[in-house]
Amino acid sequence: MGSDDPWEMARLQFHQAADHLSLERGIRDYLAHPYRELVVYFPVEMDDGSVRLFTGYRVHHSPVLGPMKGGIRYNPAVNLNEVRALAMWMTWKSALMHLPYGGAKGGVACDPQQLSKRELERLTRRYATEISVVMGPKSDIPAPDVGTNAQVMAWIMDTYSMHIGYSVPPVVTGKPVPIGGSVGRRDATGRGVMIAAREAAKERAAPFAGSSVAVQGFGNVGEATARLMHEQGCRVVAVSDVFGGIYDPAGLDPHAVLRHLQQTGRVAGFPGATDVSNAELLEVPCDFLIPAAIEGQITRHNADRIKATIVVEAANGPTTPVADEILTRRGILVVPDILANAGGVTVSYFEWVQDLQSYFWTEDEVNAHLERIMVSTFTRVAALARERGVTLRTAALIVAVSRVADALRTRGIYP
Ligand code: NAD
Repeated sequence: MGSDDPWEMARLQFHQAADHLSLERGIRDYLAHPYRELVVYFPVEMDDGSVRLFTGYRVHHSPVLGPMKGGIRYNPAVNLNEVRALAMWMTWKSALMHLPYGGAKGGVACDPQQLSKRELERLTRRYATEISVVMGPKSDIPAPDVGTNAQVMAWIMDTYSMHIGYSVPPVVTGKPVPIGGSVGRRDATGRGVMIAAREAAKERAAPFAGSSVAVQGFGNVGEATARLMHEQGCRVVAVSDVFGGIYDPAGLDPHAVLRHLQQTGRVAGFPGATDVSNAELLEVPCDFLIPAAIEGQITRHNADRIKATIVVEAANGPTTPVADEILTRRGILVVPDILANAGGVTVSYFEWVQDLQSYFWTEDEVNAHLERIMVSTFTRVAALARERGVTLRTAALIVAVSRVADALRTRGIYP
């Protein structure tokens, strides 16, 4: 119960939902385990001619609803249990959003900031080759996550295509637009987080415009979230990256913070703001707290000091189960990761569909479909939470797990 290990967290959350569903033993056991795990140890030639060994992972959690879908993470802390948890969360997220995917996740234990662009490209092409035994446009479709971006996806798509002998855009999503990416994908996760925050404000009958927000992590997701909430009239009072954060109760301009980050490599030192640590950022006075970095940030040690009234989990697994209970007891509304950050996989699905059909949508079409799916899913989850007297997390998991379990029963157990 007390563990902050992400895989234990994910399993505990699953079992809580399974209890609510009175899920039968066999199906429960099957879904509590990963389906397939690939661990690869591969060499990469560094710019100085030396050779370094890296460890990479690709975990498939559930093949029940369709091809496997999930991001690739480049981070020194990546390990098998983390990837397992992230893969399981992807299964629930895709099922919750009614997307025809199973969950997967991948990663390489490395620090991309310490690698040159050429080293990063060689590492990516080798890792892509190693996981190509399971990856494919109809079997397993990666996407960006912590430490990876559209350029990394382009290298994966190119490597896979070179091996097959023709271009295969739908093998990854989150690609650059000129090679088959979707307009709107870059901001999609952050846009979904903004929509989830806005719907949560409605749920609490609180105003959205004029509310204050602190965002931990100013990367793919956190930057877009801060910028889009700023556009909606919210006051972004704090943001951070791995090196630390900045706080200004009068409000920060996310565009100016991004320029500062691009110039200096970090958000700290932004003119006019006070430097704070990542731990301090989580406790600043604000209406919305949006963890958008990594797992295990809101724990038993700080949950009592969170001042926000609504936590929107842009990151996967930022709140430990004990912290979740503390926040709920304190009346803080937590919008769970599998709902809050599902805009990313939803627009990844749109990208995949566009690639398969070679027919591309406008940004207005992408955003309108995302808005509709986010709002309808939020509404459904909030209604179920009220009906059953459970948290939004448990309600979201009940919807997701029951969809996967129903599909499994309908398909039957092979042979
Ligand atoms: P990113 O690498 O683009 O950005 C991560 C940010 O967090 C950076 O600002 C980084 O400096 C900071 N960070 C990294 N380690 C940290 C630490 N130990 N403490 C504090 N800050 C730290 O990653 P991202 O793609 O924005 O992903 C962020 C979170 O959102 C992850 O949990 C990821 O799984 C989740 N997510 C991402 C997507 C997506 O589309 N990229 C979709 C759904 C969920």
